[in-house]
Amino acid sequence: MKKFQVAILGGGGAGLTASLYTSRANLSTVLFEKLTPGGQIAVTDLVENYPGFPEGVLGPDIAMKMEEQAKKYGTVIEYQEVKKILSASQGGFSLETAGGEFRADSVILATGASFRMLGVPGERELTGKGVSYCATCDGAFFKGKNVLVVGGGDSALQEGIFLTRFATRVTVVHRRDKLRASPILQQRAKENPKIDFIWDTAVEKIEGQGKVQRAQLKNLKSGHESEFPVDGVFIFIGHDPNSAFLKGFVDLDEKGYVKSDGSVKTNVPGVFAAGEIRAGATKQLVAACGEGCEAALAAQEFLEHV
Ligand code: NAP
Repeated sequence: MKKFQVAILGGGGAGLTASLYTSRANLSTVLFEKLTPGGQIAVTDLVENYPGFPEGVLGPDIAMKMEEQAKKYGTVIEYQEVKKILSASQGGFSLETAGGEFRADSVILATGASFRMLGVPGERELTGKGVSYCATCDGAFFKGKNVLVVGGGDSALQEGIFLTRFATRVTVVHRRDKLRASPILQQRAKENPKIDFIWDTAVEKIEGQGKVQRAQLKNLKSGHESEFPVDGVFIFIGHDPNSAFLKGFVDLDEKGYVKSDGSVKTNVPGVFAAGEIRAGATKQLVAACGEGCEAALAAQEFLEHV
């Protein structure tokens, strides 16, 4: 069994910033990450709204730098998932992983959220065969092709604009006639000659023999159904919190986000939440990093009194 003063769950902007602060404060720190560090930022193309980078910074680059910086001060990164956390009878917390038990005196929850699926026929079967949730990862496969982008938020438009580097035509299908995305992205998308919009429309089915060939669309106002020939369907319809393993350990809201005191304290003393996993979080990289810092300082203060 390995023991640390701080265990951080999740290696996105919140978790990596928290680990930078705790390890730099000489607290023994372990950070658990089940995929690659960086979280959602690692699969984002260009980040334009992180201060200090007037030309923008590539998501994977800033993720790598954050990891390097945390490691420099002694953070131990465990590339595995925490399956369960319990309050240990002798104080502190017990974390169960496939690689055995870890103990920590305090815990920072920063597991973020994962992309939401549409839940339509063909989506699961054709994932990796034309259905994708990551333009940065898969965009290059669609050179000279036509793709659909589903969603009307910042992700849909940012990733849709990115896809125009490869695709001949990007058609954004949105279930309403008003976009949720920020005005700057709306303007860029609307001015991009490779982007079209289909409004008030849902994707009902994705079809194809071994690869995506068409989508069945339905206008939600008129009820009109149509077939849309297409090579790829990129889905950006928001996220759901990665908190299933936290049920019964900390208080969650009705959507599964971790409740806090308005700041980073959860209902369990010594357990803090930072970034997108926290109910009410702003869901921006810079805010996630700020919350990571706040959680680290709160953990530090907590540890001074145990
Ligand atoms: P989001 O803002 O929640 O938008 C999700 C979009 O998908 C909405 O337009 C929503 O439609 C639509 N949608 C949801 N469920 C759907 C369903 N079942 N079928 C069809 N459409 C559905 O999610 P996001 O775009 O991933 O952004 C998440 C957060 O990250 C936001 O706070 C965003 O600002 C932030 N973000 C920021 C940037 C940036 O600053 N550059 C980039 C990416 C993300 P309705 O509009 O009708 O609800």
